[in-house]
Amino acid sequence: MPKTLFPLPDPLTIPVRGETDEFPVGRIFCVGRNYAAHAAEMGVEVDREKPFYFTKSSANAVATGASVPYPPGTENFHYEMELALAIGAPVFRASPDEAKAAIYGYGCALDMTRRDLQISERKKQRPWSLGKDLENGTVLAPLTKAADWGPIADQRIWLTLDDETKQDATLAELIWSVEEIISHLSGFYHLRPGDLILTGTPAGVGPALAGQQMVGGIDGLDPVSLSLTVLQ
Ligand code: MN
Repeated sequence: MPKTLFPLPDPLTIPVRGETDEFPVGRIFCVGRNYAAHAAEMGVEVDREKPFYFTKSSANAVATGASVPYPPGTENFHYEMELALAIGAPVFRASPDEAKAAIYGYGCALDMTRRDLQISERKKQRPWSLGKDLENGTVLAPLTKAADWGPIADQRIWLTLDDETKQDATLAELIWSVEEIISHLSGFYHLRPGDLILTGTPAGVGPALAGQQMVGGIDGLDPVSLSLTVLQ
């Protein structure tokens, strides 16, 4: 290890159910518009030709249970509850079978979004970085190994805001399956152990305010939660 000019940031690791070792978080890829009802509420069409992606920095991700300030630069900060899949083996130009074999596990995740900025960026045909890759903007729950969960069918995916249900759908509504996503994305990246893919959010996204708490769940997986405090 070279001597560094300032301390290296602590790597983010997340627990795995039934394991003592934790999963080190590498890159975070996110799928856009993977539930038709969410695309409709956003006023956009689903592209059924192929999935599309944006990325979020793992340096900006936090573990479930975090209490973080309402972010700067937005007046419309939204929750998006998602199924995250964790890659456990190197995979490149994967067939659907190879894609399935590369899945280490699954977890609940929040893709927090400055919706006002994302929409203005979209309208100006600019990148979504300010809208999506914000500090504390990805929240990750512990993982469950693939062999201990699934297959993906019609498991319920939901989110509550201060105990009021806001998102309530099933994984049967996913447009692109996890195998299709890995197979497609691995045509552009050498996916590797540690990579996470957030598979998109169902309908019902909306704003969260300082002082509020979100809890999201998927049948059979550990829930994810986030509390917002006032920005100082
Ligand atoms: Mn999302």
